[in-house]
Amino acid sequence: MPDKTRKLSQAEKEHVAKILTEKKATKECPICGNPTWAIGENLVLHSLFGSGGFMIGAGFPSVLVACNNCAYFRFHSAMLFGFAQPESAPPSSTEVEKKPEGSNA
Ligand SMILES: [Zn+2]
Repeated sequence: MPDKTRKLSQAEKEHVAKILTEKKATKECPICGNPTWAIGENLVLHSLFGSGGFMIGAGFPSVLVACNNCAYFRFHSAMLFGFAQPESAPPSSTEVEKKPEGSNA
């Protein structure tokens, strides 16, 4: 299967690091105190949760930043870095059925 993920180039990762530094978003990990972070390879989607469950394809494109020690994840909107536009959000008519209580499958 072809890889259709939205990977960040090295230049884009450097752009993310520059913006986070400019915004002073460089504090140490709130979980373990480690001072270094890794920028994720791909853009990710924070899914919206509607009245009927998760809305497949609807959400907020994000850049994942992970602690280099404990792998704690934090997310920043991809719009901050110019990687997504507000109109790129998918339509909200794609709600899926919520799984019944107790179903882990
Ligand atoms: Zn950590």
